[in-house]
Amino acid sequence: MSFTSSNDLPKHCIRMHDHEPEKIAASFAGNKRYLTFSHYLKKQFGEKVWKIPVHGEFTCPNRDGTRGTGGCLYCNNYGFSPDLIQQQATVENQIKAGIERIQEKRNVSKFIVYFQTYTNTYAPLAHLKHTYDAVLQFKEIVGMAIGTRPDCVDENILDLLASYKPRLDVWIEYGLQSIHNRTLAAINRGHTYEDFLHAIEITAGSGLKICIHVIIGLPGEAKSDILNTAVALSKLNFDAIKIHPLQVHTNTKLEAMHRQGKISLLSLKSYVDILCDFIELLPPTVVIQRLTAEAPDQILVAPDWCRNKMAVIAAIDAELEVRKSWQGKRFIHHDSFQ
Ligand code: SF4
Repeated sequence: MSFTSSNDLPKHCIRMHDHEPEKIAASFAGNKRYLTFSHYLKKQFGEKVWKIPVHGEFTCPNRDGTRGTGGCLYCNNYGFSPDLIQQQATVENQIKAGIERIQEKRNVSKFIVYFQTYTNTYAPLAHLKHTYDAVLQFKEIVGMAIGTRPDCVDENILDLLASYKPRLDVWIEYGLQSIHNRTLAAINRGHTYEDFLHAIEITAGSGLKICIHVIIGLPGEAKSDILNTAVALSKLNFDAIKIHPLQVHTNTKLEAMHRQGKISLLSLKSYVDILCDFIELLPPTVVIQRLTAEAPDQILVAPDWCRNKMAVIAAIDAELEVRKSWQGKRFIHHDSFQ
């Protein structure tokens, strides 16, 4: 079945209106005006939890010709985690090394394994099980996050992931980027918004936690388009979101377009302005896992302001403070952004 809008989804996929969003917002940690992932983890596990990114040696159907070729315009998977791609280690060894590396610097005893690079549900079921099972050997691992595309899951894969729930907090992270099919086509995503709605429908009720990835500043999108993505998502039942500005990385199609002057990138001021509007429209109970992105200096071509993640976060926090605003301030069941 194909859904053309979130309004068509079955009831269990639709978010019930959060009661008293202002009261929920008042419980955000420290001086933050949004629900941070670190706050969620502390509440869930009683202490700090660190993420260990691993490379499961998967590929991507948007590169191998199954869904498309060439990948998304902005995709340079090396930019996600260059160390991982270089090391060619087994998942076990990557986890072991990750725990050691983090514990050398920090007093942390609990970790989440993040299958980050490429499409981490894109393999036969037995291969997926073998790969994910590696996580179970480590008593320090309390969670597993699986990054994937909305067109690369089915009930069998979701059942497999749900089978880890008694032992782990299991997240599935869907790269959506935008609800607008014309944008998804322009960036060569190789899937549609309807594919995403189908993924949400089959994931709802599995007990898996859902995180959605969105990019702000995609080619051809006006501010109202971006905010309509927030409005559409705010109606859905999901647990977390990762948001970041469009970045140009080396060796991507986007880099060529950028050098030819065919795209324009957001300034820090515009990004902060749109992002704050975006999170005001989100439900206050959605965990915000990411508000900007980092990439190694040698990979990031532009925008330059993305080189300083802490400065971006500080600008977002300052803008919300100036507005006296918070995540969910404008969260209601809108039909579109006005
Ligand atoms: S779906 Fe992910 S891995 Fe595949 S081309 Fe796009 S960004 Fe790259």
